[in-house]
Amino acid sequence: LLMFCLAVLGGADTPKYKDPKQPLAVRIKDLLSKMTLAEKIGQMTQIERENATADAISKYFIGSVLSGGGSVPSPQASAEDWVKMVNEMQKGALSTRLGIPMIYGIDAVHGHNNVYKATIFPHNVGLGATWDPMLVQRIGEATALEVRATGIPYVFAPCIAVCRDPRWGRCYESYSEDPKAVQSMTTLISGLQGEAPSGFAGRPYVGGSKKVAACAKHYVGDGGTFMGINENNTIIDKRGLMTIHMPAYYNSIIRGVSTVMVSYSSWNGQKMHANHFLITDFLKNKLKFRGFVISDWQGIDRITTPPKLNYSYSIEAGVGAGIDMIMVPFAYTEFIDDLTSQVKNNIIPMSRIDDAVYRILRVKFTMGLFENPYADPSLAGELGKQEHRELAREAVRKSLVLLKNGKSASTPLLPLPKKAGKILVAGSHADNLGNQCGGWTITWQGVTGNDKTAGTTILSAIKSTVDPSTEVVFSENPDSSAVDSGKYDYAIVVVGEPPYAETFGDNLNLTIPAPGPSVIQTVCKSVKCVVVLISGRPLVVEPYIGAIDAFVAAWLPGTEGQGVADVLFGDYGFTGKLARTWFKSVDQLPMNVGDKKYDPLFPFGFGLTTEAKK
Ligand code: BGC
Repeated sequence: LLMFCLAVLGGADTPKYKDPKQPLAVRIKDLLSKMTLAEKIGQMTQIERENATADAISKYFIGSVLSGGGSVPSPQASAEDWVKMVNEMQKGALSTRLGIPMIYGIDAVHGHNNVYKATIFPHNVGLGATWDPMLVQRIGEATALEVRATGIPYVFAPCIAVCRDPRWGRCYESYSEDPKAVQSMTTLISGLQGEAPSGFAGRPYVGGSKKVAACAKHYVGDGGTFMGINENNTIIDKRGLMTIHMPAYYNSIIRGVSTVMVSYSSWNGQKMHANHFLITDFLKNKLKFRGFVISDWQGIDRITTPPKLNYSYSIEAGVGAGIDMIMVPFAYTEFIDDLTSQVKNNIIPMSRIDDAVYRILRVKFTMGLFENPYADPSLAGELGKQEHRELAREAVRKSLVLLKNGKSASTPLLPLPKKAGKILVAGSHADNLGNQCGGWTITWQGVTGNDKTAGTTILSAIKSTVDPSTEVVFSENPDSSAVDSGKYDYAIVVVGEPPYAETFGDNLNLTIPAPGPSVIQTVCKSVKCVVVLISGRPLVVEPYIGAIDAFVAAWLPGTEGQGVADVLFGDYGFTGKLARTWFKSVDQLPMNVGDKKYDPLFPFGFGLTTEAKK
């Protein structure tokens, strides 16, 4: 009787799924058994921030919300503004019958890059050149804290694409052309999520409310498309797919990655979003990945060309292939209605829906979202904090690759003397934080100028590094008379690509954008010069390399330009090595390390070193 009374007063009304002491599987099964079809399909639906009112979330039982393409609540929203927004949505989710928390996701792909004043780390192409997986893990830890500071528990990173052709507009999101190098950088996942205890392999792992769920993307072969055309066709045999593009997924799964995002691209003509073999048979059944598979943005809509030619077919093909969460199906209410009727008509079996929801719930339970659905306010100070900026600066230093130093080996120009009469700093990228950060910064396509985020430009870093007696003259695009009459000791020319993202970055020429080449020629003709190239990939430099005294690939370094000055002036040595082949001309592409015909300007693995000045 006593037991009975206690049960009535206490635990009996509390369903098992709400009891954190119950084993994970018990909680998931209990909750799943209570859910209606509408509640299940809601869990599978991820909608855009703009549409995610608390009412819409509760009405459709929405399982997830995102800031796609860098969509932000307002241009300079603070951490507190973000927290308020996410919590408001969470309230909507928790107000439903079963109170299942929604999971908010964001593209934090080089730090928390959508957010004003966040620390922006180098893009992956630069991190690849550090060859330092532990550094990348620490970046993951810092990023997790900054993301959590804004109330967000889920990021769409890392991109583990193996970019085989730099003409691809997303090449900078890839660590390397080499599968092993990419594999080694899956440490980012352990940084973001926390280190999974041994025996956790295959099961999603997120170590508490200071960590975030990660997403390995884009499954699979995104970096192997024909001529580097974004979202195009990857033509390769199964062996090639498995040995070049698949290996980093093994590592990600061993590290307990929570989610995998499907690629827009096709494999030998078949859209990945409809590839049952690779998603269900291989990833889920063979590799035993237990997290959830998420589509890319309107990815199932695009199963047909043009998109949504036959939406019912696309939904059947995508969900049928094994996609668990659908990112922004358009329109989501139409998707929900259609999927509902397909299940009711036995076109899509209930077991497929249950598999999807089981996986989504598993991630949510594992990460403690049911116990802690709201932001931890004690993390507010993590955004853009000094310690993270120091880490980013270290990453910048280690990512720089010195490709030429002096017209001959006996006349090195670097490291530069801090004490000089007068030096010239030139080029469109010397004093431009937005250019330094590249795409996926504040907005999807990136920004230009210095007012949209906080950090240190290369010019201001140079100014604060040189001896106070050294005169620094900045001229973005100097003419030759100014250079000739200037009597400069040396010049630092910083040029490169403007920010871009995805298809907008596809480029068949890969030339240094104007007026970069003429700035190089004008300055280097008269003054001893170091050229610092800011770019998401190797560019055509062969025509100018002879005229340049020293040449540094700085990739897309992010907000901490001080890291560039640290190394140029010898406070630290150059240590970075190419994780990409530097081609001579685009007609050599694709050209990757290991190819039979390999005739690069600078080979994979190349990089000169300098000693730090004592
Ligand atoms: C990109 C993904 C990204 C998603 C959400 C897509 O266009 O391909 O990498 O995570 O948008 O922003």
